[in-house]
Amino acid sequence: MSLTTSHSFSRPPPLLAFFGGTFDPIHFGHLKPVTSLAGQAGFDQVILLPNNVPPHRPQPEASSQQRLHMVELAVAGNPLFSVDSRELNVDTPSYTIETLATLRKEHGDDCPLAFIIGQDSLLTLHKWHRWGSLLDFCHLVVMARPGYQEQLDTPALQRWYDAHRVADAEKLKQKPAGFIYQANTPLLDISATEIRERRHAGLDCSDLLPSAVERYIESQGLYRE
Ligand code: ATP
Repeated sequence: MSLTTSHSFSRPPPLLAFFGGTFDPIHFGHLKPVTSLAGQAGFDQVILLPNNVPPHRPQPEASSQQRLHMVELAVAGNPLFSVDSRELNVDTPSYTIETLATLRKEHGDDCPLAFIIGQDSLLTLHKWHRWGSLLDFCHLVVMARPGYQEQLDTPALQRWYDAHRVADAEKLKQKPAGFIYQANTPLLDISATEIRERRHAGLDCSDLLPSAVERYIESQGLYRE
């Protein structure tokens, strides 16, 4: 006779965090705050999700395959990270909410899932498709970003934010979805736009992104006219 049920000794489900972006290219402004955040919040794994860009928005300079390859190079050998190319494997841009709904199905109802965004993305979140339903599928974790205010622009977004915000990252493990956590991550004033502009101007970017990514950019002649 078993003295325990499988329940009593079962490990808590892992806390998985997904981080979407254009990553044109990926840089230290993505990687350093996220690494710090994973320590603070106890993420078991951070999964990078490179996005397609809708046709009506300015297109990335690097191809999908190049952006994916840069993301893979940036985290190669780092066990905290993995890369999920699902959004690049389809021709049409995916809505984040649909990707999150699929991820929720894949991981089951009990596994805590977090979706990471920067402060600039939070400020425009009310423009995302079905933004008010994001928390049905995941927690939202917001990283500070220099130059972006904390005050939210629309009263509806502010009310939603205030209603779901928690001060303690521990809460993220206590239910599968539904909280917003504003992380106290290091401030890095780096953007992919700045990197592309510096490259076009023939300037050095070695402090701004991993050397393997920089070497790849150079070998592909990316971001040079
Ligand atoms: P671009 O300059 O081309 O708009 P980006 O540098 O903002 O690009 P994205 O790939 O668009 O990079 O960003 C992906 C996610 O990372 C977004 O949620 C964004 O808010 C966040 N992010 C990007 N750079 C930083 C940074 N320096 N600090 C904190 N968050 C960041």
